Amino acid sequence: MKKYTHAWLAFMAIKRLQYANIPEAYKADAVALVKWFKDYRDFVIKGSWYPDAVFKDMSTSHILKYRPNEKSTDDRFKKLPGTLGMYELGKSSPLYGKPFTIEDGNLADRCESLAHAIVDSFKILRMEEKGNPVAPTGNHIAMRFFILSHYIADCHMPLHCDCRAFSSGDNVHGFIETQWDNQVKKSYDVDTANERFFYDPEGYPLKLKITPLMQQVEDDLENREYLHGWGSGNGNVWDYMSSLSQYSYLMAYRMIPAQYDETNLTKAIYKTTEEWQHFEEYSRIIFSDAIDSIARVWLHVWIRYRKWATGKE
Ligand SMILES: [Zn+2]
Repeated sequence: MKKYTHAWLAFMAIKRLQYANIPEAYKADAVALVKWFKDYRDFVIKGSWYPDAVFKDMSTSHILKYRPNEKSTDDRFKKLPGTLGMYELGKSSPLYGKPFTIEDGNLADRCESLAHAIVDSFKILRMEEKGNPVAPTGNHIAMRFFILSHYIADCHMPLHCDCRAFSSGDNVHGFIETQWDNQVKKSYDVDTANERFFYDPEGYPLKLKITPLMQQVEDDLENREYLHGWGSGNGNVWDYMSSLSQYSYLMAYRMIPAQYDETNLTKAIYKTTEEWQHFEEYSRIIFSDAIDSIARVWLHVWIRYRKWATGKE
């Protein structure tokens, strides 16, 4: 995904935590997290783009790539919260329950370690005297949250979970991501000189003439039920991201059927396929799921720290 898509997804995750119907048990935590984030909103674009701009670990940590493989003994698909659109679609995929191999990437490990690093940073910040040079700052921790959002979002880009090399050939991967970034730039007012969004009175990206797709995602944010759990059988960020990558892989084969790879799919051919007709529908699902996941992971991380801070853990 591209820069403004990443930043927008992170912003929408904050918005979701503010406006979705968060269950009573987590409501106070969500309110506190949204309030905390508001001090750092100017860093969203920079932070959520740091992995691509500076870390450049695209070929390892931004991916978790699958390939259908009849010879593999690995055919277990994990569970996810039932509100995720990719999960629902994935279960009716012809590849669901079929053997696969994971051939590349460590995206789930990256997310798990970032989640730990954020909790650790909060603990250090709380233990050390104000101004102590070893203490991280709130700015630094907020950056880490936005960095984490990047890897979570990438997991929802189906081609990051698909072994077929669509960044090669006619670069259909880049083409899809450009479509998405254009939607964001058309719909929201970006202050490109200062690398931040202009804000509405609530502190969220100011809407221009919003596209139908972006409006649908905004509506989804408020209406979709928020389920805090990771999905049955998943106990942490790693499990959740690993499950997600499976359904993102199934989504890749829904968007681009198995007869295609980078050698025979051009942008022009893609636009003639039946699947292209569903591009907006799939994009809506991918975006809404990505926002939901970022919000879920962030809130879990925040709650883990808050429990420690209040002596409950
Ligand atoms: Zn990336």
